[in-house]
Amino acid sequence: MRLADRVVDIGTETAFEAAARARALEATGRKIIHLEIGEPDFDTPENVREAAKRALDAGWTHYGPFMGLPQLREAIAADSTARRGFPVDPATVVVTPGAKPIMFFALLALAQPGDEVIYPDPGFPIYESMTRFVGATPVPLPLREENDFRLDVDELRRLVTSRTRLIIFNSPANPTGGVLTRADLEGVADVAREHDIPVLADEIYMRILYDGAEHHSIASFPGMAERTIILDGFSKTYAMTGWRLGYGILPEALVPAFGRLVINSVSCVASFEQVAAVEALTGPQDAVEAMVAEFRVRRDLLVAGLNAIPGVTCRMPHGAFYAFPNVGGTGLNGPRMADRLLHEGGVSVLSGSAFGHAGAQHLRVSYANSRENLRLAVHRFGEVVAGLGVEV
Ligand code: PLP
Repeated sequence: MRLADRVVDIGTETAFEAAARARALEATGRKIIHLEIGEPDFDTPENVREAAKRALDAGWTHYGPFMGLPQLREAIAADSTARRGFPVDPATVVVTPGAKPIMFFALLALAQPGDEVIYPDPGFPIYESMTRFVGATPVPLPLREENDFRLDVDELRRLVTSRTRLIIFNSPANPTGGVLTRADLEGVADVAREHDIPVLADEIYMRILYDGAEHHSIASFPGMAERTIILDGFSKTYAMTGWRLGYGILPEALVPAFGRLVINSVSCVASFEQVAAVEALTGPQDAVEAMVAEFRVRRDLLVAGLNAIPGVTCRMPHGAFYAFPNVGGTGLNGPRMADRLLHEGGVSVLSGSAFGHAGAQHLRVSYANSRENLRLAVHRFGEVVAGLGVEV
């Protein structure tokens, strides 16, 4: 069958493929520790699950408004106003099946052949692949290990051209756990204002921060709400990945375009889920706090364990639930080490190269797994490296 050119070269998110590979090995009887997955290992909080059941029984089973149920858009606006520190109008909120469509819609709405999109490298792989998909040119902004995986504003400035149509960034970040400071974001805002470029702020991990780090939303800075698309959702914060429930907060000027893109693609999001999402935002938040506290303990044990392996160095992540160790000192690069870990150690991780060229010497290790499994994974990692006979 002849495929359209646009899908021949389309990229992917390797996490799904790596998980499938690990499951195939499991089917042969091998025991695998899954550290490749980008989702909390906790259940969706009970109050949210109960709200969904009640909503189903109450008949929330029909199409809803394409931008989302008004009560959910209002709840998102109120929550965002409180957490992000600027007044969010419910009319600028769009609810989508997962947060991913916000990336897709932003690129479809803003970028076309001849345009350039600046995105973080290493970064979520879909930024780059969707930029290509819409025919625009992806321009990687390297996030350097020595800079704690924060972007460098001078470097960003040098990448901007008259063709730049969008700047994408993500903080706290997948895959590095890096967190941008207020000063970094002010620098990005300066560039965006000077050149009148919209930004896509991927804030999906904003509630998963450690060591007293604070989240700053670039949209709260002067002149930025009108040029910022905020991407967020329920997947990570409320352990709701399988629900497929996300949202965007849009510049007013983009609302009609997003509306048409929703109508042309997904129509709307499951109504009973949206009713439950109101409960997630307005009900007790202790499950979120408990999850973050547990992630912090796991982060500390994982990072300490990784740093004790000869040839492996790992920066302390400040947010999200990923560590991004550099394995270059073992003599193996990211892809080869990920392969050895899976086949020899029974530990499934992702190669950092799945997140861009800058990640070639790294692994992405998700610590959304039990302390016990993390300890065992570090132990097996150490054994695999010992088997390489590395001298450090
Ligand atoms: N943005 C980042 C940085 C992510 O890591 C993810 C999921 O892994 C998403 C967006 C997409 O989230 P969702 O599952 O809600 O579509």
